[in-house]
Amino acid sequence: MSLIQQLVTLHRVDSQFRALEGRLDAARATLASQERQLGVLSKQTEDMRSQERQLKTTIHALEVEVAATVARVEKLRSELNASANEKAYKSIILELKHLEENKKKVDDQTLAEMQRLEELQKRVVEQLAKAAERQRFCDIAKAELEERQTEVGARLEELRAERDRAASSIPDRERKLFNATADSTEGEAMAAVNEISRRHREYCCSACNIEMPFEAVLRLTSNQDTIFQCRACGRILYLEDALRETIGPAPAKK
Ligand SMILES: [Zn+2]
Repeated sequence: MSLIQQLVTLHRVDSQFRALEGRLDAARATLASQERQLGVLSKQTEDMRSQERQLKTTIHALEVEVAATVARVEKLRSELNASANEKAYKSIILELKHLEENKKKVDDQTLAEMQRLEELQKRVVEQLAKAAERQRFCDIAKAELEERQTEVGARLEELRAERDRAASSIPDRERKLFNATADSTEGEAMAAVNEISRRHREYCCSACNIEMPFEAVLRLTSNQDTIFQCRACGRILYLEDALRETIGPAPAKK
């Protein structure tokens, strides 16, 4: 088998392999994207939970402060009746007034913090619903990937073995060139030559349609052990058997 024939064989297996692998890659990418989004949501939920804990601590501290004030007020009220003189009486009244004012401030602050907590808790509920929905998408993507893996996994391994076999007889340099070309052309490493007009000796690369000089076509008929790449798209050119037979080998130079 000529080098070009070996490359064509490799190309057929390689392009099937890459197409199947591409389907798996697409499923993997979908799953990864869903997991990334779920990760962002989880991080946000965590932050909200931490804010919630802080608010609860603040509210608790305010409540403790109010309770202490209330106790102090009760104590002062009982002392009021027993106050010995007017000076002591006035001093207690003054402190009571101050305490009442302070208690009002703390009550207002507590109320504001509780409202904040309530709003935050509403957002947490919404956030959890979003995360649950995203989790569902993740599960679907995971199931899809697993399904594809079972579906194509065995075939992919067969093709991998077949590809390795087809590649094993190709010299190192040419194999590397083939792989690099396949990587840069999404698995389309090779392109057949198309005949536009035999009479006018017009031929082109079937992948990018650039016209080729007839001498280049003749080179392909006479030398099947050298790689010729399309000068525009870089794909490795070959002639389909039917076309090669009708063009025939290059005439010997006189
Ligand atoms: Zn081309």
